[in-house]
Amino acid sequence: MPEQLTPRQILDRLVAFPTVSRGSNLDLVDWVESYLASWGVAAHRVYNETGDKAALYASAGPAVEGGVILSGHSDVVPVDGQDWSSDPWTVTERDGRLYGRGTCDMKGFVALALAAVPLAVQRGVKRPLQFALSYDEELGCTGAPPMIAEMARTLPRASAAVIGEPSRMKLVNGHKGGTGFWVHVKGFEVHSSLLPEGVSAIMEAARLIQWMNDRNDENRAKPVTEIAGLFRPPFTTLHSGQISGGTAHNITAADCRFVMEFRVVPGESVEDWAARFEAECTRVEAAMKAVRPEAAVLLDRIFVVPALTPETNGAAEALVRRLTGDNGTMVVSYGTEAGQFQAEGYSAVVCGPGDIAQAHQPDEYLEVSEFEAGWRFMQALVEDLAQ
Ligand SMILES: [Zn+2]
Repeated sequence: MPEQLTPRQILDRLVAFPTVSRGSNLDLVDWVESYLASWGVAAHRVYNETGDKAALYASAGPAVEGGVILSGHSDVVPVDGQDWSSDPWTVTERDGRLYGRGTCDMKGFVALALAAVPLAVQRGVKRPLQFALSYDEELGCTGAPPMIAEMARTLPRASAAVIGEPSRMKLVNGHKGGTGFWVHVKGFEVHSSLLPEGVSAIMEAARLIQWMNDRNDENRAKPVTEIAGLFRPPFTTLHSGQISGGTAHNITAADCRFVMEFRVVPGESVEDWAARFEAECTRVEAAMKAVRPEAAVLLDRIFVVPALTPETNGAAEALVRRLTGDNGTMVVSYGTEAGQFQAEGYSAVVCGPGDIAQAHQPDEYLEVSEFEAGWRFMQALVEDLAQ
């Protein structure tokens, strides 16, 4: 028998890998893979294009339908410029809290899920516990979709997916979706006294940003749907958070770059919103090209996260209610991979230990009591799968 690591021992190992999104996660993936192999569970990798990162999935128990997916991400946000009281890459327990980068978001949950695997093996579950570990979640949930698609294709269909983002072990059954673009408006430089002969990238960008303002006004004025009413604010928002461009007050700007994001309420389609924006860019670009054919509006899609729509009689929701006794419902304003699992046809919810307020902070921590509640959840889940 391999040594059975406690959840805390596994957490110590996971946090020691500094898996910041900009770097590779393969050391962590190697460790997880050999840990699973020691329990006779084969893992499968889904690499990114450059091969320096991988998602990993595995299934413990019989290859039958009706299992449960436990899903987490391996990456964490950077610690650069943050003031930490102890080494962020070493789990340090103080005052009933486990300090360390990723303890809360979300290596705590991943450690619990991994610790549940030997439990499932030893208990002889009748339905499988499927384990999913992604990368680049912190860059806009870009790493998970190929893994989810492969799981859907190759594993017997699980009846529920639990995405363990910090929710204080409360049931979260909805979140907004989102997508973002970098927009590069290419104008044409002339002396500003000759304005009609040039194209100011800044002034054309302003048209697109004004289009966003108009949509916000329109959305705010619309009647609130039942699902949207759960959210704050209860409508889709469009936002630009960064812009740069131009060289002098008297030159029409050759370039303007800005970033824009949509946060889309369930019931509206992220792709429809993206298509409306692309159509507006095409319209503005055509007018620019009529002045100077070399002018252009170039779009670079940064991320896409589908909304998590609250399900009617959802299997994942029923499971989490059964295991936690939580009868409330909650929606959150941050996007997660739960929307991506749901988009692949899985019943999905968010439920995990810790408070999202701790995520990404210096001195990030997970309360020991939350970690213990998460472990009770895993024990109850294995028992449920054994029935
Ligand atoms: Zn997270």
